[in-house]
Amino acid sequence: MDYQAVLEDIYTQVIATKDKGTPASYIPELAHIDVNNFGLYLQKNTGEVYGVGQYQTKFSIQSISKVLALALASSMEDNAILERVDVEPSGHPFNQLALIEVENGIPRNPFINSGAIVIADILVSRLQNPKADFLNYVREITGDTTIDYDLKVAASEKATGHRNFAAAYLLKSFGNLKNNVDVVLDFYFHQCALHMSCEQISRAFHLFANRGICKNSVLRLTERKVKRINAIMLTCGFYDEAGEFAFEVGLPGKSGVGGGIVALKPNDFVISVWSPGLNKRGNSKLGMFALEQFTTKTQLSIF
Ligand code: GLU
Repeated sequence: MDYQAVLEDIYTQVIATKDKGTPASYIPELAHIDVNNFGLYLQKNTGEVYGVGQYQTKFSIQSISKVLALALASSMEDNAILERVDVEPSGHPFNQLALIEVENGIPRNPFINSGAIVIADILVSRLQNPKADFLNYVREITGDTTIDYDLKVAASEKATGHRNFAAAYLLKSFGNLKNNVDVVLDFYFHQCALHMSCEQISRAFHLFANRGICKNSVLRLTERKVKRINAIMLTCGFYDEAGEFAFEVGLPGKSGVGGGIVALKPNDFVISVWSPGLNKRGNSKLGMFALEQFTTKTQLSIF
């Protein structure tokens, strides 16, 4: 299979598409990104890599970071996480508040904002220097010390993240947030503001395609935990469009409002895409299209 030719064909189609979606505007710092950016990067477990467009340009990975935060928390805690966060798709937007109230402060899953805020709380409790330690974890599993937070994006979200403050206070009222709301959200906003390229994201996610062993050959997560996190990506990784993504693409993955999507096939590959224009559900419009084309052309889905 000539993967480079497949990616180039997808790139040609994307470039020719007029409606490229709309960047997220509720985080002001993300609103100005040019929707003409596009990067696509395939990393096979065997070591071959293929890329087109701006696959080395860094962008705000936003909710993609929730998978890395869950992986680090899972490596330190076992079933205790499941007492505080469920593993069911929410069928609602990522920033919905009503379910927290109805379900007594137990978020539906770790990838909606309320669930990710509980995971952030666990990391704040567990890590000595949460922001620095989490960054180091991402650098280590990627083997790349240039990865950093985009402090402007973190500040921009902190200034406007009213729904996340509301979610955190609601969680606190149910006893499902142990630390101070400001401290947890400061960590969460930085986590979401990780600035990475498609190439770096693919390297970071190698461990989920490689039974927990990351790029530098170190085992960071047991096979059982990798299986579970991949299952949550498949069922909950795309806001209230997880069904559509499984239907069209057929891979576990995670999107972010910065326009990135990462998807993987266990024991085979990781593929990352960046196209900042979003569809109505908050997923990258052309990112979804590109991945659908990839699994259609290569027949490499999990189904
Ligand atoms: N930091 C964003 C928020 O909390 C993440 C949203 C996303 O990428 O889905 O709203």
